[in-house]
Amino acid sequence: MIDASPVACEEFFSYLEKLFSISINDIRVMIQDFHAEMGKGLSGDESSLKMIPSFIDKPKGTEAGEFLALDLGGTNFRVLTVRLDGKGNANVPFASKFAIPQKDMQGTGVALFDFIVGCIDVFLTENHVDRSKTYDLAFTFSFPVEQTSIAAGKLIVWTKGFTATGVQGHDVILLLNEALRRKDIRCINITALANDTVGTLAARSYIDPACDLGVIMGTGTNACYREAASRIGKLNTVDAHGHMIVNMEWGNFDKVRVTCYDRLLDKASVNPGAMVMEKMVSGMYLGEITRLVLMDLIRRGFILVNETPAAEYFQERGSLKTEDMSRIEGDRTDRLDGVALFFERNGFSNITLHDKILLQRLCRIISTRAARLGAAAISAVLTWIDPKFKDVHTVGIDGSLFEKYPGFKTKMMNVLEELYGEKAERITLVHAKDGSGKGAAIIAAVAASSEAGRV
Ligand code: ADP
Ligand code: MG
Repeated sequence: MIDASPVACEEFFSYLEKLFSISINDIRVMIQDFHAEMGKGLSGDESSLKMIPSFIDKPKGTEAGEFLALDLGGTNFRVLTVRLDGKGNANVPFASKFAIPQKDMQGTGVALFDFIVGCIDVFLTENHVDRSKTYDLAFTFSFPVEQTSIAAGKLIVWTKGFTATGVQGHDVILLLNEALRRKDIRCINITALANDTVGTLAARSYIDPACDLGVIMGTGTNACYREAASRIGKLNTVDAHGHMIVNMEWGNFDKVRVTCYDRLLDKASVNPGAMVMEKMVSGMYLGEITRLVLMDLIRRGFILVNETPAAEYFQERGSLKTEDMSRIEGDRTDRLDGVALFFERNGFSNITLHDKILLQRLCRIISTRAARLGAAAISAVLTWIDPKFKDVHTVGIDGSLFEKYPGFKTKMMNVLEELYGEKAERITLVHAKDGSGKGAAIIAAVAASSEAGRV
């Protein structure tokens, strides 16, 4: 292992900082590109933004009732009951979380939907749900779906590591109903299919009418916003009245400058060439980008020179996770004891303070780019809705990355301040906790009330 000079190391880090930097000028260009892609997506032209109509408007806050909700779309699958009191309160009396086995994520669609229904069965039994009654169920399914009505839609393409066969191109509500029938569960009536972004917007706007943007920053990233139906050119004229939430599928935005490390990550992914922005922004990928740069640093002899097994250890995909980055970057101790802990836990004890400082610096570079890209995308949507910021806007954001990554929100706010100065005060970024769960139920309630008298 070459022990490279400190000057060369510093030079390389300056290079990395530049490589991953997102200047305010880059952001201004990106906003314009975003608007162009949004316009094309809404008219039904070829675009990296699918701009999928949801056939549902925001809730009014008066919706009430009790609903079952399913949340599938990333790391865990959840089943919940949600009680809406019609006064802005959404309570969750029961909720269960199930880890999705890799074999079901990447096996057959039948196995995946049987797993889902198996979890529902366990949930009903554990919570002594009376199966002689019928329950309205909302399904949060956080993948790109070509929605054709509030409770029907075909999966366009899997993302976030899912590859189950026989699902792409098929109506997921139909597949869920078939699986329910296979297990002879008859007490469920599926009334709504929603994306987690739509759920997040619904959950936040149920209590906050200023909320017009729902964002996910978790395993993946995506957003939805409230659009005038008349601006959605690809809609049937019968549907083109009032307002409707549009699921942007912004993780697929591709007018961004990628680095050689992003290309390496993309090549090894299950969906090369797709979801370009998601791979630079979200929890599933940030640890992996950091690992790829770390490997390069090790190879160049800039870091962990006293730890020869490190090269082999970090060779393995997934050996550095976004959660690790969170802990590393959040370490404020003088001697970076938290960073040391990360190394020690992985069997390295000969690390220097210099190693720890460099790893923390690297995490900051990668997370800063993610936060700035996320903020740029939010700015693009806000200026599309309200170019002069005449109104105040709440952005409801769900996902562990936004919730837990130290400084992530501040980095995003910095971008808004750099762009809009004092007017940035008109924008509030809030954590919409459990938007994808509660929101699904709120959507089911909106669907129920809009059946009576359309949105
Ligand atoms: P999902 O997106 O699957 O619904 P979450 O919003 O909980 O679920 O996001 C899970 C993702 O968030 C994980 O893939 C992980 O990368 C990231 N994550 C989990 N914990 C943390 C943390 N403490 N800091 C930063 N990111 C985290
Ligand atoms: Mg989620």
